[in-house]
Amino acid sequence: MSAQTSSTAIRRRGLMLVLSSPSGAGKSTIARNLLENDHELSLSVSVTTRPRRGSEIDGVHYRFITPREFDGMRESDALLEWAEVHGNFYATPREPVEAAMADGRDMLFDIDWQGALQLKDKMRADIVSIFILPPSMKELKARLKRRAEDSDEVIEKRLQNARVEIEHWRDYDHVVINHDLDRAYSDVRAIVTAERLRRDRRPGLFDFVSGLLDEKI
Ligand code: 5GP
Repeated sequence: MSAQTSSTAIRRRGLMLVLSSPSGAGKSTIARNLLENDHELSLSVSVTTRPRRGSEIDGVHYRFITPREFDGMRESDALLEWAEVHGNFYATPREPVEAAMADGRDMLFDIDWQGALQLKDKMRADIVSIFILPPSMKELKARLKRRAEDSDEVIEKRLQNARVEIEHWRDYDHVVINHDLDRAYSDVRAIVTAERLRRDRRPGLFDFVSGLLDEKI
């Protein structure tokens, strides 16, 4: 195989892309766009004890489970990380992530700062974390209201929690401010592209470069 053709199939390790932000900062839309346009990326579907919203599909956005099921999964070590957010439990099931990593596939995690820290502790080298900030707290509140999926009481709780979430911005590798959704999305795409090209994530480069140097010209 020539160096030219093998360059398209250089083996690399899977990337664990963590996206966090306060609710309403645009993270879900960015995550959805990424998943639609980047077929190397699949979503880690979390389990949650939160009630399903009207627009959500069980098994696609989350697996909706009971607190009892959640306890069972936690006790049997089936969760890679878990956290309590806004009074509900959320967690990342271990098995699909380990399977993706073993196959060198990339995974996207839409999780909060508590989950991001736990994953970083467990899988240091493979994590790339991005924090998405709203342009202002006023705009964050307006976006939560526009979404109209939560009651006023829940929106208040989410705004209080937003402050706590934002305080953890320093724990992330990259920070994107979502003034404009298209721009924020292209920033996230640029980060993913650059991270995939990192030398230390591409063990297959050794063979590629050896092939280049051995090539008869
Ligand atoms: P929502 O209820 O709006 O879907 O999510 C609330 C928060 O929980 C979001 O910040 C979301 O990223 C976070 N979250 C969702 N799934 C998980 C998970 O599996 N683990 C952790 N730690 N947080 C999660």
